[in-house]
Amino acid sequence: MTDEERSKLKEIIREHIAKAESDITELTELVKPVSLDASIGRISRMDAINNKAINEEALRKTKKRLQKLENVLGIADSKDFGLCVKCKAPIPFGRLEFMPESRTCVRCARR
Ligand SMILES: [Zn+2]
Repeated sequence: MTDEERSKLKEIIREHIAKAESDITELTELVKPVSLDASIGRISRMDAINNKAINEEALRKTKKRLQKLENVLGIADSKDFGLCVKCKAPIPFGRLEFMPESRTCVRCARR
């Protein structure tokens, strides 16, 4: 990977981190307990409970992803960055650009 590609990816990672952090703030707000005496109908309350479960799942995933992004930013200057952790083959730039937290090539990720 060239220095230019590396600095571009670091920038992308930081953008993804900022996005994940703002998603977490938003989702944390959404998963607050649903009030039982709120003046909403039974159906709306059921919707709210269903949405809460979906948002809780999204929050869990986003937190996990943020952790991965922070880890990958931590190694962005090392020679291992951009190499598959399993087979050591270079991970295609396009994959890193799209999913900068990737630590494996597509082939290893599918295994
Ligand atoms: Zn691999």
